[in-house]
Amino acid sequence: MLYNDDGSVKGVATGNMGVGKDGEPHEGFQLGMELHAKYTIFAEGARGHLGKQLIERFKLDAGRDPQSYGIGLKELWEIDPAKHQPGLVVHTAGWPLESDTYGGSFLYHAEDNKVALGFVVGLDYANPWLSPFEEFQRWKTHPEIRKYLEGGKRIGYGARAITAGGLLSLPKTVFKGGALVGCDAGYLNASRIKGSHAAIKTGMLAAEAAFAALKAGRAHDELSDYPKAFEESWLHEELDRARNFKQWFKKGRTTATLMTGIEQWLLPKIGFKSPPWTIHRTAPDHTYLKPAAECAQIVYPKPDGKLTFDRLSSVFISNTNHEENQPAHLTLRSGDVPVAINLAKYAGPESRYCPAGVYEFVKTDAGANRLQINAQNCVHCKTCDIKDPTQNIVWVTPEGGGGPNYAGM
Ligand code: SF4
Repeated sequence: MLYNDDGSVKGVATGNMGVGKDGEPHEGFQLGMELHAKYTIFAEGARGHLGKQLIERFKLDAGRDPQSYGIGLKELWEIDPAKHQPGLVVHTAGWPLESDTYGGSFLYHAEDNKVALGFVVGLDYANPWLSPFEEFQRWKTHPEIRKYLEGGKRIGYGARAITAGGLLSLPKTVFKGGALVGCDAGYLNASRIKGSHAAIKTGMLAAEAAFAALKAGRAHDELSDYPKAFEESWLHEELDRARNFKQWFKKGRTTATLMTGIEQWLLPKIGFKSPPWTIHRTAPDHTYLKPAAECAQIVYPKPDGKLTFDRLSSVFISNTNHEENQPAHLTLRSGDVPVAINLAKYAGPESRYCPAGVYEFVKTDAGANRLQINAQNCVHCKTCDIKDPTQNIVWVTPEGGGGPNYAGM
């Protein structure tokens, strides 16, 4: 981030290329560039690492509910043409998750015998033994899902955190010199499992506000026309109707299903644009984890290599690659916390919530536990940055070009 002397955003600096593990420049070193702008629009997706800094610096989340997230895991399959029904959409809620855990799935029959399928788990889950990746694998074994996949071939894998807090968790989206749009702000409509329309709309509204400001000769001030235009848009109406959606799930799936039906189907029919009541969230996702000793251990079945897979073979088909000789992009505020707190109290949840097997507890020669971070496997989903119970993990962007290289996803 770059700031002007008056505190407004000046722009961003790209990272230096060719810096070794030791932090020293090596052969091929290239200095990053400063990009200056009258207004900088941030669109990094959920839990953007610059967005996170901006929210903190400008206190954009003051008075709002904490953001809430889910981890979405996705696979791309090529299936038997006899089972393929182009355009078929299947959504599920719940199974195999327990009823107190938020989550559900999608299965879309696309063109050329391809099927895109995925599973979302709310990152406010409580049981540290839960593995979102393994729940996704288990979900594929349901007869209504496996019937499409059997005989097919998995050709892609990926994972990404998504926002789910909706309107009540939306931070202030403008600050001097810039704005947050799309999932960097958190416009995704979790009840509709879609956010692209909201990202496009808010990008347009921010662009229109910036265009008018530039025409008026302004620079580095607040684009207040953007949030005003949002409040008058169809998107605000849509998100307002769904504003309690995620919060109801804290009261169990049955209550949530019933109340979502009332709020989004019944009330509009009898003339309410949005629910006449509001339910707030008070705590961020990482605070919901319970000590492992208080939770039932979950034993997941072994993958069969046909319908269900392990994490490493999954990361392989995400085409993830990082320059090996570079400073770590996953760092710990304290090196002691993973073993002393995360392992001792929560049975090492990072070894389960990471969809890429980056975090492994291994034994040292002396028999002690140690957290090994396989940063080269990271698919940049941001889950660790969100779910780590002590907020001890710091995710920063690795050297440019590193990360997953999704094809057709
Ligand atoms: S290390 Fe963190 S950001 Fe990377 S894949 Fe694992 S959970 Fe996601």
